[in-house]
Amino acid sequence: MKTQNLDQWIEERIKPEEITKYMTGENDFIPQEEIFRQLIVNKEPDKSRLRDILAKSLEIKSLEPDETAALIHVQDPELLEEMKAAAFKVKKKVYDNRIVTFAPLYLGNECVNNCLYCGFRKDNALMKRRILSMEEIKKEIEVLAGKIGHKRLIVVYGEHPDMDVDYMVASIKAIYDVKMPARHGIGNIRRVNVNAPPLSVEELKRLHATGIGTYQVFQETYHRPTYEKLHPKGTIKGDYRWRLYVMHRALEAGIDDVGIGALFGLYDWRYEVMSLVYHGWELEKKFGIGPHTVSFPRLEPAYNTPYTTHSRYRVSDEEFKKIILVIRLALPYTGMIITARESAPMRREAISLGITQTDASTQIGVGSYAGRADGGQEGDKQQFFLGDTRSLEEVIGEFTEMGYITSFCTAGYRCGRTGKCIMDLLRSGTEGKFCKLNAVLTFREWVDDFTQNGIKESAEKVIQREIAEIKEQMPRIYPKFIAAYERIKNGERDLYF
Ligand code: SAM
Ligand code: SF4
Repeated sequence: MKTQNLDQWIEERIKPEEITKYMTGENDFIPQEEIFRQLIVNKEPDKSRLRDILAKSLEIKSLEPDETAALIHVQDPELLEEMKAAAFKVKKKVYDNRIVTFAPLYLGNECVNNCLYCGFRKDNALMKRRILSMEEIKKEIEVLAGKIGHKRLIVVYGEHPDMDVDYMVASIKAIYDVKMPARHGIGNIRRVNVNAPPLSVEELKRLHATGIGTYQVFQETYHRPTYEKLHPKGTIKGDYRWRLYVMHRALEAGIDDVGIGALFGLYDWRYEVMSLVYHGWELEKKFGIGPHTVSFPRLEPAYNTPYTTHSRYRVSDEEFKKIILVIRLALPYTGMIITARESAPMRREAISLGITQTDASTQIGVGSYAGRADGGQEGDKQQFFLGDTRSLEEVIGEFTEMGYITSFCTAGYRCGRTGKCIMDLLRSGTEGKFCKLNAVLTFREWVDDFTQNGIKESAEKVIQREIAEIKEQMPRIYPKFIAAYERIKNGERDLYF
């Protein structure tokens, strides 16, 4: 235990020079008054301007704040339909019909912060606290990679000296080390994305060296007065700018796939959407790299956490769909994640509005993958309650019925296709080619290794359609691709382009 000097540990976490070095003058990049102004002056956008904005988005160009504000205010049903059609086309152009699938893995629920909306907050005396040992982590991976067949994880850490960067590095290594026998070949985790509290540049360099995929931190709310109300003073998370500039530090540390997000339901969703776009712009301007992913969790009930059911900013289903649409159009190249916080019907609808990634077989109780084979939820061990606990196989079955292919591709960061490189490839449509090939190869692997209940027929149909498209659209690479595909069918694993 490293908890003896807890106060000192907390005191030393924030490095003010790692905030100010990215700032010009006194102001940060979230111009509160300007956002309110934009939202007011763009309240009644006319149809022809809106159509120009949609056309710009269809060219895979990021939208300006005033254009984003105009989309936020669209109410007219006809225009909303046009927005939906444009969002669908943008997604198709950049990501085709692929859905990337992953699982979250909570490694502990200890935390020194006191976020009012979170079941893990330190004052929640009813939470049963636990941090997984390396042996326990291994057991979780045996289920995730050996039984379910996941290849991609998002590992989640609280802010605590016993879950510091040493623990993060050791746990990520432990995860990558597990190799499980599967029906053919092995099951293993090939991409670990990380959701962790803001780290310093030195710590982020260490994380980068372990071979992580995306580093994800949500600002929760970009509205400063609300942020201060929900994250008590004196806690580490109470420092708005330490969190706001974490992606600058990550990019400086060499992690160039960064994931931003806001927790919707804490403040006015319109303000948060505008801020996410400002955040994306800031990163593009300073580093030439926009966010690899954007997340928009909605506030969910959490055990012994009354704030979650009392917030006056809770977001309705209609508003939530609008959020997805606007972000899809405003940041057309970015990956968009919807999680099992949402219900199955909402997730299904969200896919056609622009979502590119989702989780499945999700358990967020600490140690639950190995400990709760029935998939049950345990409020006193988890951060909030889930809306969709379907298995990966069920979710994939639904996708294949809808004509989508599930991709377990993890080639990007292993081939150096990250950051600016991947942004440029996505904008030009080139990355899509690699992704299409890798989606088929990895989906074939999963179908052959992990299906239990016969979704094979619809899966087979999707695979054959993809192969036919590859043959037609990429005749030059096709022979190489089909050779790799045959090798996978014969039991080889982890081949990628
Ligand atoms: N402790 C780290 C941090 O705060 O950055 C890791 C994050 S936390 C374990 C993952 C995310 O869950 C948070 O950033 C927050 O957006 C979200 N979250 C917290 N409480 C939630 C709730 N009641 N409902 C939905 N999402 C919640
Ligand atoms: Fe801790 Fe993160 Fe929960 Fe806040 S949101 S209490 S920092 S785990």
